[in-house]
Amino acid sequence: MVLHKVADVNSKPLKFEDVSEPLPRGDEVRVKIENCAVCRTDLNVVEGDLPAPSRSIIPGHEIVGRIDSVGDGVKNLAAGDLIGIPWLHSTCGTCEYCVTGRENLCDNKVFTGYTVNGGYAEYALGREAYVFELPQETNSAEIAPFFCAGIIGYRALKLALPAPGGRIGFFGFGGSAHITLQLASKLGYETVVYSRNPSHLKLAQELGASETVQTKDIGPEKTLDGAVVFAPIGEVAIEALKQLKKGATLSIAAIHMNSIPSIDYDRDLFGERRIMSVESNTRADAREFLALARRLKLEARVTIRKLEEANEALIDLKKGSIDGAFVLDCRSE
Ligand SMILES: [Zn+2]
Ligand SMILES: [Zn+2]
Repeated sequence: MVLHKVADVNSKPLKFEDVSEPLPRGDEVRVKIENCAVCRTDLNVVEGDLPAPSRSIIPGHEIVGRIDSVGDGVKNLAAGDLIGIPWLHSTCGTCEYCVTGRENLCDNKVFTGYTVNGGYAEYALGREAYVFELPQETNSAEIAPFFCAGIIGYRALKLALPAPGGRIGFFGFGGSAHITLQLASKLGYETVVYSRNPSHLKLAQELGASETVQTKDIGPEKTLDGAVVFAPIGEVAIEALKQLKKGATLSIAAIHMNSIPSIDYDRDLFGERRIMSVESNTRADAREFLALARRLKLEARVTIRKLEEANEALIDLKKGSIDGAFVLDCRSE
């Protein structure tokens, strides 16, 4: 599913086309893709909320597939291995961020499904040091959303975490929040999910939220020890900030957001409250999250769509009419 030109997703800009199979070189592995999950960032790429790619691109960065060929520099992976390929396709390893353990901020990072072709396809390439091997028996559809929604949610949660046992709020309840909620609940935090969508609140209850709150008309209650905003809406960041106790942190797990309205400093930020964004993730974040997800048996709620229905999946994602995450089935018939 190729994007030639960014456009409103309702005009179905992704085209189902034959392209040549990519060839792995050097440290690259090629997977025959089984599943690729659909992320809000794909919508940002397709609609041009992020700077438009300089050439035609295949989106998708939550890829699970089986290696079918490797470049001559690959040492530890081989044909038949099941792996996941995330958003962080590679980093430079030499910039000031890379050499100080902050590769998520690398000035020269390459993104799967944005800088290089991604997983809305039958084949994709990954770099050996940036992909993650999975147990052979893994359900590839159910684990696909872990490779962005899960990992980024985990990083956002880490940045906002209160002391153990504290009360943490989630604002917006899509693909990432529904995984991160399970993680926070199983780690022993009191969890509160805020949303306007009754169906999302119902799913949050099923997945173990301590409390669910219809967001409209709630005042500054100041009951949260930490919060994560998943909805890419500046007004929601303000709503979340209003709920923070002194010393609490709000992290924003969105790659793109409209402007945040003005902040009432005295009421909502003073008292050593913090607000911060989350950019991508390090490989260490990914390893930590994948280990926790396995140990705590986190589960993604997935709805499978055919590869050629990627436009429709993104349209439904934009409307908010999905509980959990869409996953494309990329296996050819
Ligand atoms: Zn770098
Ligand atoms: Zn993503």
